[in-house]
Amino acid sequence: LKMKSAAPKGPEKVPGVDRIIAIASGKGGVGKSTVSANLATALAAEGRRVGLLDADVYGPSQPRMLGVSGRPASPDGKTILPMRNHGVTMMSLGLMTQEDEAVVWRGPMLMGALQQMLFQVQWGALDVLLVDLPPGTGDVQMTLAQKSHVDGAIIVSTPQDIALLDARKGIDMFNKLETPILGMIENMSMHVCTNCGHVEHTFGHGGVRAEAEKLGVPLLAEIPLDLSIRTAADGGAPIVVSQSASPQAQAFRALARHL
Ligand code: ADP
Repeated sequence: LKMKSAAPKGPEKVPGVDRIIAIASGKGGVGKSTVSANLATALAAEGRRVGLLDADVYGPSQPRMLGVSGRPASPDGKTILPMRNHGVTMMSLGLMTQEDEAVVWRGPMLMGALQQMLFQVQWGALDVLLVDLPPGTGDVQMTLAQKSHVDGAIIVSTPQDIALLDARKGIDMFNKLETPILGMIENMSMHVCTNCGHVEHTFGHGGVRAEAEKLGVPLLAEIPLDLSIRTAADGGAPIVVSQSASPQAQAFRALARHL
């Protein structure tokens, strides 16, 4: 498939998609993709028709987290059929490139790839399309806001100052792009020792809550640093699916009902 060049066009609705929610973070490695995968499967478990567009061009992890592999088909050579697992319709740049292949793309190519994933993928009828953004404030974020209607953004951060500093820049960018902030999620909020139950605030405590209050946006969830969250996500079945009765899974389900 040829990448389309990014023509200067105004926002367009993605056919069949009711709402687009962007999942963003200031820094990488704060758990944005893990939250996206769990939220997508939680929305599906709550009966929503949900899609997940993995736009984290530098480290597309949704194929692994949702247990999807193989190349998406394009029977007509123009549109692309999305993949589906755990009740989630998904597409990822990671399915177009090899897993170990580094993506060294310039802005216009990134913009073309994002537009292709938005408008050439046959998403079908969806209540909500989650977009797992790359970290930071770059071309992909701008293109998404300018080419389609983003109904809201969720910012994932860890509680330490350095991550919050970058999260703040992300919020500022969405404000400039006039994308409503639905709220913040504090990930790796605390660690509960599996041996003794002792709670440790590895990255500090309450940082995201304080920031959310200061910025006047809701704190949507506080997710612990939890071994089973990591093994589930890395194993291709998010904890919402693989341990659906766990308190972590229930927390994602509660968040999904709220969205
Ligand atoms: P990002 O998308 O922000 O770069 P990821 O979602 O890829 O971050 O998470 C980075 C790593 O941290 C992954 O290996 C993931 O499994 C792990 N991780 C994320 N959130 C948690 C958590 N709450 N508990 C344990 N491990 C987590």
